[in-house]
Amino acid sequence: MKDQVMIITGAAMGLGYAAAEALAKKGAKLVLVDYNEKALKEAEEKLKSTYQVEILSVTADVSKEEQVKNYVEETVTKFGKIDGFYNNAGIEGKQAGLTDYDLDIFKKVIDINLMGVYYGMRYVIPVMQKQKFGRIVNVASVGGIRGVVNQTPYVASKHAVSGMTKNAGLEYGKDGILTNAIAPGAILTPMVAEAFKQVNPDDPKVAEAEYAKRNPTKALGDPKDVGSLVAFLLSKENGYVNGQTIAIDGGESNMY
Ligand code: NAD
Repeated sequence: MKDQVMIITGAAMGLGYAAAEALAKKGAKLVLVDYNEKALKEAEEKLKSTYQVEILSVTADVSKEEQVKNYVEETVTKFGKIDGFYNNAGIEGKQAGLTDYDLDIFKKVIDINLMGVYYGMRYVIPVMQKQKFGRIVNVASVGGIRGVVNQTPYVASKHAVSGMTKNAGLEYGKDGILTNAIAPGAILTPMVAEAFKQVNPDDPKVAEAEYAKRNPTKALGDPKDVGSLVAFLLSKENGYVNGQTIAIDGGESNMY
């Protein structure tokens, strides 16, 4: 991936950081985007010192259209192109029933998970169209394939990500742009650790063990596994996968 330019949103930790690491290992130039400025700087320093790759960090909230436009413009100014886009930043919201859900949190989940992913594609795709090449990976979830109790806005936003991915695949395949989504199951990142705290505040480890037991592999996923899949989908080695939502969940989404 030498000389390939990859934008990663939500890059400071979790699945974004794991993908940044997988891409850095392959020698890609990275644009790291996150709204947590401190964690973003730490991620940049760690990646630079370990992999000696060129990195541009841009602090941005993906739910703010102007800030998305800006991270895309800064990328083009510095590197002149965008080969791959990992459209990953997202939040889970709070656990609550559909009719009880706090409306402000509901809207925030939609703004970040749905609009953030949309704005990203809205500004990255025209750059890729000019190049006649691009690879996009949007982050959905198993909650973008099936329902998840007490997570209505999350499930709504992730189904939307899967839907927008199908459309981008249909509309821009002709321009050499392949767009896919991934649907992770429970991968042990800070976001999932926080969810286990909400499910069992007294002993989150019990909630974690319960969740792992349900999976066909009897384990939670490792962010590194997700990083490897993303690195493949963002590479030229992916020549024909387009418009798909690919589960990476140990097979859990096949269960009733
Ligand atoms: P995480 O909370 O560990 O990391 C998310 C990162 O995104 C953080 O660095 C955070 O600062 C950043 N971020 C959040 N909102 C942002 C915004 N508005 N603008 C810019 N940056 C923002 O979460 P994670 O587990 O790594 O999740 C990453 C993505 O994967 C999310 O879209 C999430 O829904 C999805 N996902 C995760 C899992 C899992 O098991 N971890 C499963 C399914 C889907």
